[in-house]
Amino acid sequence: MCGIVGYIGKGNALSTIIGGLEALEYRGYDSAGIAYVLNQDIHIIKKQGRIESLKNAIDFSLAPSIGIGHTRWATHGEPSERNAHPHACGKFVIVHNGIIENYQELKKELEEKGYRMVSDTDTEIACALLDYLYQEDKDIIRVLTKVQDKLRGSYAFAILCYDQPDIIYAMRNQSPLIVAVSENDKYIASDVPAILEHTNEYYLLENGDIAMLKQNSLSFYHDGLEISKEKLVFEGSKEASQKDGYPHFMLKEIHEQPKVVHDTIAFYFDGTLESLDKNLPPLDKYRNIHIVACGSAYHAGLVAKTLMEEVAEIPVTCEIASEYRYKNVFYDEKTLVIVISQSGETADTLASLRKAKEDHIDTLAIVNVVGSSIAREADQVLYIKAGCEIAVATTKAYSAQIAILSLLALKLAYIRGKINRQSLLELQQEIETLPDKITELLQRQDYLRIAEKIYQRDDIFYLGRKIDYAISMEGALKLKEISYINSVSYPAGELKHGTISLVEEGTPVIGIITDSLVLEKTISNLKETSARGSHIILITNEPDKNMGDTIVIPKIHPLLQPLLTIIPLQLLAYEIARLRGCDIDKPRNLAKSVTVE
Ligand code: GLU
Repeated sequence: MCGIVGYIGKGNALSTIIGGLEALEYRGYDSAGIAYVLNQDIHIIKKQGRIESLKNAIDFSLAPSIGIGHTRWATHGEPSERNAHPHACGKFVIVHNGIIENYQELKKELEEKGYRMVSDTDTEIACALLDYLYQEDKDIIRVLTKVQDKLRGSYAFAILCYDQPDIIYAMRNQSPLIVAVSENDKYIASDVPAILEHTNEYYLLENGDIAMLKQNSLSFYHDGLEISKEKLVFEGSKEASQKDGYPHFMLKEIHEQPKVVHDTIAFYFDGTLESLDKNLPPLDKYRNIHIVACGSAYHAGLVAKTLMEEVAEIPVTCEIASEYRYKNVFYDEKTLVIVISQSGETADTLASLRKAKEDHIDTLAIVNVVGSSIAREADQVLYIKAGCEIAVATTKAYSAQIAILSLLALKLAYIRGKINRQSLLELQQEIETLPDKITELLQRQDYLRIAEKIYQRDDIFYLGRKIDYAISMEGALKLKEISYINSVSYPAGELKHGTISLVEEGTPVIGIITDSLVLEKTISNLKETSARGSHIILITNEPDKNMGDTIVIPKIHPLLQPLLTIIPLQLLAYEIARLRGCDIDKPRNLAKSVTVE
């Protein structure tokens, strides 16, 4: 799930690989390692913890010209030096992203053949399998093709062989991997930022593809046959992976939201019906919508569910992908399944998409990464215009997802006769004010002042009704992810059915009220907690409501309101995490794109 970087060329493999791994550092990892070729021999160094400790153990002056490196996000076996990659077995050394699902049965078979594993990882089993099959057939492309038949699960591999120390092999299934090229050098990487320092030209490996990198040649194979592949050019800028003076990527990305939201909306909608018709898929035939996603994307889906139900009056279910893929789903040809994923590689979301496709249900994907698996496999795809998101905890991608989902709600509302052309134009006028309103919220001083009062608490509750409940889910997740405070969101009316027993003197309760229909009800619920000693923080678009610490946000069209409400929640989470001294861009245990199930 984390980083793979490989290098073969005229430069120093050690510094290039370490630089690449550092560019992927934002994705979160628990150990790092490198293998390089020197005097026809392969040397391995690995360390638990940060890349910094690996760097300290490396003699960069050796300057080898071939190597592979890895940052591990442990799935099988504790984070430790022993389990860190690269893993060596027999004639091979490999690094791996993903999970080998049938590793237990393979392990048994290989142990019976005499292999003894030294780590707890599924990766070492794949390495042993490779070595075992190589004993029978010395053609590595043929052997790798056989390995593909025997492995179940997801993998991106970079591989070195003691018998061919001048070659790097790479192959993938379900886990992203690219091969990049510059004038004198070739690279392998699990994600584009790793190579942007050197080149923006790359080949995207498809499932089942194998690449063979030599100093003077690059070849690709599929099903044992050599194939040619199209070279792609990465259009994004390198600046995306720099902090531009912000102390954290997360803060930089929070501040990019006025532009991201503007760019995303403007790409699809200009106030006219024609733009909705031309730029968004036809939605006339659908009688219900299923939204499927994980994490923050699921929370964006919950916001969309409320908006679509309220504004377009169409039934919507919003489900967590890891549940949806295994459950009995009731859909038909009048259902549209919308999957949402920033990376476009989220394993459970991809599996849910495939399930719907197998059942011949129409699918629409909302993703950030162009050319990702979900983008390629869905019937239709809408890209958010968020650019590269580096911080593990998403902010701008979440907002951009909501922006597109709001436009889908708008189009559905028009088709279903709930709004007219005139309201589209009025909405457009409000959209034009949106970036400035977000900017104004970003510049407020309230967040740090409030964070200082509550950052030492162990529990924080979020309350809201309807759309505000959906947004509070994301607010609570942001705080949990980066500050490690146990923060939970509840529909405001639900608290007294149990959870209110947890409220004690000083417990922070963050209330969100932007829907005037439920204003008084939510106020009453907040009062129920303050009567029991809670410290209320109110985020509302009603300027005359004041309770505890209040942040008044601008009022805007209900379809756009969530894009304002989320800003104080993101910044509160950020300030609290900063005061607690947390590693904001790389929270413990988390990874940026979850390509395992
Ligand atoms: N499953 C492998 C392990 O636990 C790879 C983890 C990763 O993707 O970083 O070592």
